[in-house]
Amino acid sequence: MSSKIKSLKYNGKWDFSPSIESIENLSIQKEYELFINGKFQKPFAKKYFPSINPSNEQKLSRIAKAEFKDVDLAVNSARDAFNGQWGKISGKDRAKYIYRIARIIQEKSKELAIVETLDGGKPIRESRDIDIPLAAAHFFYYAGWADKLKYAFPNRTPKPLGVVGQIIPWNFPLMMAAWKIAPALATGNTVVLKPAESTSITALLLAEIIKEAELPQGVVNIITGDGSTGNIIVNHPDVNKIAFTGSTEVGKSIMESISGTNKRSTMELGGKAANIIFEDAPLDQAVEGVINGIYFNQGHVCCAGSRLFIQESVYDVVLRKLKDRMQSLVVGNPLDKNTDIGAVNSKQQLSTINKYINIGVKEGADIFQLNCELPNSGYWCPPTLFTNVSQSHSIAKEEIFGPVLAVQTFRTTQEVINKANNTPYGLSAGVWTDKGSKAFNLATKLKAGVIWANTYNKFDPTSPFGGYKESGHGREGGLHGLSPYLNLE
Ligand code: NAD
Repeated sequence: MSSKIKSLKYNGKWDFSPSIESIENLSIQKEYELFINGKFQKPFAKKYFPSINPSNEQKLSRIAKAEFKDVDLAVNSARDAFNGQWGKISGKDRAKYIYRIARIIQEKSKELAIVETLDGGKPIRESRDIDIPLAAAHFFYYAGWADKLKYAFPNRTPKPLGVVGQIIPWNFPLMMAAWKIAPALATGNTVVLKPAESTSITALLLAEIIKEAELPQGVVNIITGDGSTGNIIVNHPDVNKIAFTGSTEVGKSIMESISGTNKRSTMELGGKAANIIFEDAPLDQAVEGVINGIYFNQGHVCCAGSRLFIQESVYDVVLRKLKDRMQSLVVGNPLDKNTDIGAVNSKQQLSTINKYINIGVKEGADIFQLNCELPNSGYWCPPTLFTNVSQSHSIAKEEIFGPVLAVQTFRTTQEVINKANNTPYGLSAGVWTDKGSKAFNLATKLKAGVIWANTYNKFDPTSPFGGYKESGHGREGGLHGLSPYLNLE
């Protein structure tokens, strides 16, 4: 991972000269506190945990751990803000604050992208081109709704719920925070948000942005910690709604905790998406979509196309193209603009991925991995593909959340619908075909919340996102993303 200019060499593929994003003017604080009631405050118990750069295992900062008294203070601040100024201002004024947050995110987009990459391990190209622009776009989009709720819900009287507890995962840290906070503010709620423990820093930079935007104190509180902190938010009696994105296992435990209470919920949980290539598809485009769907962001995407179904007649050609394309992927320093595949987010996640790769081999599937040099330190997994996979293989059934693709074949449309729907999950799917009628037919038959046709992993704030079955309930994004934050009388 040297930043020196190397000479180009051909080694089955051409090397690129390194193009490392500079971190010279970046200031990551040694310690981050809790953002409560408009101020950064030390946690009562003075406990902290480290945040690590997963690409080299170096400590970036230490982060405050919120416990009961801190969560209670944050919830009380959010309640006071809801009962006070925030509850009284007009939608038009709420919009001004949300626009301001969006604009400051845009101004600081470079710094935010670099920090996202350092803290999370994802390639700079992705944090620069996807995470940060989409985070700003969400704030812009929902700012536009804040004064138009009566048009969004004609003949109803939309009213905010109150204090919402929001808990997010590590795969798109700032973007997930934006997906949660922007609609909550547009609808007039106040917020207590907890980022994932391995990627807290951009949420805390967002807290600084919120302060700079002069959002009234207590409207957004950002507190850090692990699952135990999340659990305290979930069980706090003065929280009106839980918006959770994370694993199905934790989502189920949260649903158990809030059952019997009046708390509302949205759950964005795990996935095991089917990506389906028909023989009439534009095959090169489809292969690119498969690569984008499972390997970019190291497969750390809830909607990753982790099951690939190829129609038998084009199986050989698609597989050859896929393996060729895999060989051209660049794995390495996430700060290098040429990097396609960055570091796995944590040691724990790497061991989960490796566990599944070993299970795949033990259960008799054939493994193909990108033959590449991996950096000596940090957490790395080369893009991996399994063929000779059946529906009963664990790698075809369970969410791995890593760059591991399980390939199966099919002959008829009905067969692939049955196979694709044979999963407890239902978050997303992809269909590759030249025939619009086939794409529409599958869109109605696949049990998934989002279905892409001849593209994959496309996100837009105007478009709702969410799952069926064990992938959760409720929608985020678009007009649909407003109602989970409202009482509609
Ligand atoms: P996770 O469930 O372990 O953690 C998610 C968040 O919940 C973290 O902030 C964590 O600290 C917190 N948490 C953990 N235990 C808790 C508890 N008992 N009570 C309250 N909060 C608790 O998930 P993860 O490993 O961070 O993220 C990966 C998972 O998230 C995958 O399953 C992925 O599919 C899912 N995900 C889903 C979506 C979606 O939109 N459907 C998006 C991104 C990620």
